[in-house]
Amino acid sequence: MKERRDTYNVNVGGVVIGSSEPVRIQSMTNTPTEDSLATANQIKELTDAGSELVRVTVNNEISAKNIIRIREILYKSNYTVPIIGDFHYNAHTLLSAYPETAAALDKYRLNPGNIGGLNKFDDNFAQIIAIAIKNDKPVRIGGNWGSLSRQYLENTIVNGGKSADYESIIKEGLIDSVLKSAKYAEDLGLQSDKIILSCKVSSVSQLVDVYSEIATKCKYPLHLGLTEAGMGDNAVISSVAAISILLNEGIGDTIRVSLTPDKMGIRTKEVEVCKDILSSLNLKQFKPKVISCPGCGRTSSNYFIDLTKDINKHIDNNMLEWKSKYIGVENINIAVMGCIVNGPGESKHANIGISLPGTNESPSAPVFIDGEKVTTLKGDHIRDDFIKLVEEYISKKYKKVS
Ligand code: SF4
Repeated sequence: MKERRDTYNVNVGGVVIGSSEPVRIQSMTNTPTEDSLATANQIKELTDAGSELVRVTVNNEISAKNIIRIREILYKSNYTVPIIGDFHYNAHTLLSAYPETAAALDKYRLNPGNIGGLNKFDDNFAQIIAIAIKNDKPVRIGGNWGSLSRQYLENTIVNGGKSADYESIIKEGLIDSVLKSAKYAEDLGLQSDKIILSCKVSSVSQLVDVYSEIATKCKYPLHLGLTEAGMGDNAVISSVAAISILLNEGIGDTIRVSLTPDKMGIRTKEVEVCKDILSSLNLKQFKPKVISCPGCGRTSSNYFIDLTKDINKHIDNNMLEWKSKYIGVENINIAVMGCIVNGPGESKHANIGISLPGTNESPSAPVFIDGEKVTTLKGDHIRDDFIKLVEEYISKKYKKVS
């Protein structure tokens, strides 16, 4: 993995986004912000799932007013997660009309494609930036290819812009639009370390292309994510591919996986995917990792599958308690392997690992702890005995929370 690209560090309500900090996970509510309770509850769910910042739609007067109520509900339950206001079209009007909301939000997300046409953009944008400066708030200047300024596209195509190729026009347009807006914000007096950029598109290769280029052109932290990634496995795979490629290149300071949910109101899946991305890249581990083989013709039964499921379930059921008791328990690696071909080798690399007997192998399961074979489990209680060994390992290895 390449070294992180050097960026400014932007403080968003106490959570710093930038190259000196871990890559931050964020998400966005899909409840109507007019419903303060539902929105506050979803913010809590997202926070509990691991979202370090949460964005909410601020699209009308009621939602703008409700930010204050949502904050109150969250504070009462000790939730201090930074809240980002997502504005389109009317940020200047709402932020001016509701100064308490402008003060309560931790960041404003602006889309230069819909702040106002060429005639109004400058004034509206200047109004928003003045409010950000007054309240000492950062902004994300977030371009999206779906709302790239029509005037820009027409000018570029009709007036013989740099390229007639549609993809290049989109790329140049997005980068140009966010960088010019950032420069304008700085000219208006906003500090460099109050600006985060994003350039969202919905194709993996284009996203990689756009971010690889913008990363060379500025020092602002970058918010990564595919827009409109879709639903189900395809959406997850596309998001994982795009975000992982960029993070591996050292590009990206905060990530969001945008998924169409199975049902309105269910939103935590996108946070889980973000955590899986960071953990598979070894950027941050959130819970013990279970390394298991896929099984093959040597696998003698479903036992290794069932044991893998049981270990994962045991981790999920106990993680909260373990975290409250043991420092660093999330970093443990547990291997559950189907036979001795790769089993002992993989087990030695893990903190604790077991190799179940494959076809025609002796019905015993060697267990390795920190690279050494410590025992061989046999009989009908291999599952329980192995879970007991995992528990013992955790209690001995990890320092207790004082
Ligand atoms: S460890 Fe054994 S059972 Fe698992 S995939 Fe490899 S050869 Fe097959």
